[in-house]
Amino acid sequence: MAGAATGAEVVFSRSGPVCAIYPIFCNRSPPPLICAEWRKDSVMAFELPALTYAYEALEPHIDAQTMHLHHDKHHQTYVDNANAAVAKAPELAGKTPEELLSNLAAVPEAVRTAIRNNVGGHFNHSIFWTLMGPNGGHPSGAIAEAIKSTFGDQAQFQEKFNDAGLKQFGSGWAWLALGPSGLQVLSTANQDSPVSQGLKPILLNDVWEHAYYLKYQNRRAEYLKSWWSVVNWAEVNKRYELALKK
Ligand code: MN
Repeated sequence: MAGAATGAEVVFSRSGPVCAIYPIFCNRSPPPLICAEWRKDSVMAFELPALTYAYEALEPHIDAQTMHLHHDKHHQTYVDNANAAVAKAPELAGKTPEELLSNLAAVPEAVRTAIRNNVGGHFNHSIFWTLMGPNGGHPSGAIAEAIKSTFGDQAQFQEKFNDAGLKQFGSGWAWLALGPSGLQVLSTANQDSPVSQGLKPILLNDVWEHAYYLKYQNRRAEYLKSWWSVVNWAEVNKRYELALKK
């Protein structure tokens, strides 16, 4: 595959027959209808995005073995299963994860659960990796202001977020998301994403046992607390500023 689906963006090949003749016309993403045939054949499948830091970079908060299994195995499985689901419903080819998840009702029923779980898993993890890094710190910029005005202060926000993660029964995610009335904390089950509720994900933490069990065993609360040390606030702020503009 010559391109990659990372998060909400699909990178299109520009070498299709129609696009070779009309490169400017067809370099739009997604390409216009005239490119439909080419698009159907050559649209990129979902791909596992590489981490932008070393597997051990998040130690001691998240251990390298967990990162290897989580990224290379668990996320890869979501990617593989997402591609298998799309292959069964070719009319979905070329849609971004966000397009699919924000309108699950439009996804054929035969593959809806598979898309919800696996495109959801791919989408959520793709964002998750980018919002962590070895140099955690404190929020600054627009997101810091918004957290303060919404939740009182950073400590109260983190407490609320941790609580959402802790109380999520079974597997799921804790989220900070932007909706019409501003920022909100929520949790979702399984691989459900706030985009399916019309919300824009800003920050998320994975509370599936696969995210923490090797190091923390059953101590989810301890993992949730420790995780703040690896939050890449510069990236969170970028996401927030972009979400405000969209
Ligand atoms: Mn996970």
